Amino acid sequence: MEDLTQKILESVDEQRGRMKEIADKIWELAELGGKEFESSAMLMDELERGGFAVERGLVGKSPGTGAACDMPTAFKATLGDDGGPSVGIMLEYDALPNGHSCGHNLIAAAGLSAALALRSVFDKIPGRLVVMGTPAEEGGAPGKTEILHAGHFGNLDAVIMAHPSDRWNTGSRFLSIVQPKGGGIVFRGAPSHASSEPERGRSALDAVLVFCNGIEFLREHVRDGSRLHYVITNGGEAPNIVPDFASVNIYVRSEYPDELERIKKRVDDIIRGASLITDTTYEYEWDFPWYSPIKAPAFYALVEECAGIAGVARDEFIDYDSFGSTDAGNVGLEFPLVHLDFRIAPLGTNWHSGDSAEASRSEEGVCGMIKASKAMALSLYRIVADPGVREKIKKDFVSGKNG
Ligand SMILES: [Zn+2]
Repeated sequence: MEDLTQKILESVDEQRGRMKEIADKIWELAELGGKEFESSAMLMDELERGGFAVERGLVGKSPGTGAACDMPTAFKATLGDDGGPSVGIMLEYDALPNGHSCGHNLIAAAGLSAALALRSVFDKIPGRLVVMGTPAEEGGAPGKTEILHAGHFGNLDAVIMAHPSDRWNTGSRFLSIVQPKGGGIVFRGAPSHASSEPERGRSALDAVLVFCNGIEFLREHVRDGSRLHYVITNGGEAPNIVPDFASVNIYVRSEYPDELERIKKRVDDIIRGASLITDTTYEYEWDFPWYSPIKAPAFYALVEECAGIAGVARDEFIDYDSFGSTDAGNVGLEFPLVHLDFRIAPLGTNWHSGDSAEASRSEEGVCGMIKASKAMALSLYRIVADPGVREKIKKDFVSGKNG
């Protein structure tokens, strides 16, 4: 069979200018999670032009499972057909309130570029490539978990995405995380004149403060490798009005899924306690937790080898365990996953900051994105072309799932 390696590499290089334009445009738009209308439309248009069949917006009941999705900025683009291996690429394109400081504009461009470069493979080998547009990784709307539960991923032999970083890495572990849906935890009390009739007021802000204190006391009694962090998102309007509305948002994370569950129950108790102490009411609902993916050593090795072909030196790969979390983790519990970190900035660069936002539209950012795109495309090419590679990846996944 003809070796398509060179063709894939050339294809990524040829598209470099266009991919930079797309990455920069998404950077400028900086659309928040669930509101990435222009960014996702641009990606869908490119994929359609590239010959993909695109489901624009994952809204309503999934034909496969009947489960509902409500994500107008999610999409599914498919190339090829059933009857051969099936592989996936995930794109993200949401910004944070301080812009593209996590570089998801480059995730989108790297994945798009890899997908377009793989067209030559699917012309020659039976199989299917699914490009999944996954909104709101940073919060704000349901993300990959809902797409997964609705069955849109189908059945994949492997799935990959590339995330910008200050280093290259294939197998970093993530923390499990659970967070309340939407605006976090809401407390409601009763307003009154804070000075002339304080006895008539019930302060929702007091409830938030008691809650925060409860979390601080809990912090000492959680297993190492756990994290609790919160922000007060509404603390009232004026000192002379007893606040009848206040809200707080919290993320609970842990290395251990069972510890996450235990901490979550204690947070439930703290919320109830805060409401009882302050005679207020509360509303919240936990979102579905995200977990760490199943380890995929053979897939990691394959991607590292392909990154080498794309010009990444072996010593640029740095082992580390991220203390972040991602909804890609849940996808990695269903299918073999590589969440490839690629370097766009010097080691030690502060993430979610102005520095990482600048790196996400820098020349170094584009260089990293191109190499990541080549590494992803070559890896998926080998998975599709070589049953032996697929078998090794599957073996790891099955033993990881069982043990
Ligand atoms: Zn990110």
